[in-house]
Amino acid sequence: MSQGAEHSSGADSGEVDPKLLALLRCPCPQHQPLQQRPDGLACSGCERVFPVVDGIPVILPEPEDPSAD
Ligand SMILES: [Zn+2]
Repeated sequence: MSQGAEHSSGADSGEVDPKLLALLRCPCPQHQPLQQRPDGLACSGCERVFPVVDGIPVILPEPEDPSAD
């Protein structure tokens, strides 16, 4: 009996549709296109990496600097 129905640690949930990926831009000032990497989507401009959850890229703008007052 196999109860191995859990998600294997493959990359099947971390991949973004290439057509979607082509439309994405980093929210940073450079607005660079993003690159698929094993750990998420990487910006070549600011080197941030955005996580991918169930095939959906989680792209958030940079958090506001609390000391910028
Ligand atoms: Zn960027």
